[in-house]
Amino acid sequence: MRAIAIIGADGPESASLHDLPAPEPGPGEVRVALAASSLNHADIWASRGQPRIERRFPFILGIDGAGSIDAVGEGVTDARIGEEVVLNPILSCGRCARCAAGERMLCRTFRMLGEHVDGTHADAVCVPTIGAVPRPPELDAVTAAAGATVYATAYRMLFSKGRLAPGERVLIHGIGGGLALAALQLAKTAGATCVVTSSDDTKLERALALGADHAVNYRQGDLVAAVRSAVGAADVIIDSVGAAVWDASFRLLAENGRLVNAGAAGGDRGQVPIVHLFWRQLEVIGSSMASDGEFRDALRFVVANGLRPVIDRTVPLEGVPEALLALERGEQFGKIAVSR
Ligand SMILES: [Zn+2]
Repeated sequence: MRAIAIIGADGPESASLHDLPAPEPGPGEVRVALAASSLNHADIWASRGQPRIERRFPFILGIDGAGSIDAVGEGVTDARIGEEVVLNPILSCGRCARCAAGERMLCRTFRMLGEHVDGTHADAVCVPTIGAVPRPPELDAVTAAAGATVYATAYRMLFSKGRLAPGERVLIHGIGGGLALAALQLAKTAGATCVVTSSDDTKLERALALGADHAVNYRQGDLVAAVRSAVGAADVIIDSVGAAVWDASFRLLAENGRLVNAGAAGGDRGQVPIVHLFWRQLEVIGSSMASDGEFRDALRFVVANGLRPVIDRTVPLEGVPEALLALERGEQFGKIAVSR
């Protein structure tokens, strides 16, 4: 089968198209003939290698995917063959209390497609049966592969962790990435007032067209003053940037405000003004991926409200290496999808 793989931890420049044997499903697994996948920044990090993650090369990149089940392993009913599915990329032990609660990203044996084991930028991938989630017929394979992970991740950040209530004010840092745009769509649908930030006026204009109430260019003027004059303060902040925005974020949180973080590309060591933390009763909440229930709830919410992920472009499988470099340059607005 065709696959986009790396043969060493040499970065996205080393990703290329390979012809590799199709995987065979093990016990409890299904094989999915992939119709689509999509790119994530995690593909770039995975291509560089990460401490404590050992992989066999060639290693296939890709976290998101959708397709149809074409083979099943021992212990899985043949009835699943032919089922159209979207992939939840989390792998776990399936037996511990956290797995039983659906919080599989917190399992001691947590692993992920495209990070620890071969991923989805290929013609086929094998996943545990729980990871092959029925694809809602309203979403085609490309839409599902581009939307499932970002919507599920944003859903947990906004609703489960951020406890967003209608009418609250949400500040979303770094609009333009797939996760930030998914958060904007979900928050607006839930009745929030949304402020988005970027250094790129074109991205800000497009976010306004998607329903953002206010857009702030943080390179042109004072971010804190601009957000204050727009909405006063933020009840929930969606942060996948990290340290670079923490000073502004803490100044902008309203009383009882929640800073929900899911990334540190902008720095791993942020300072917390502790007097503000207790006096204004703020919360700093980490979030990563989504539970099994949130993954399904997010898909239902998207379908029920007619949402669709913002897709910057769709490329063929052989276009992934070039698209990874474009993703690294931050040129895209929304997700880069991959069709077969
Ligand atoms: Zn477990």
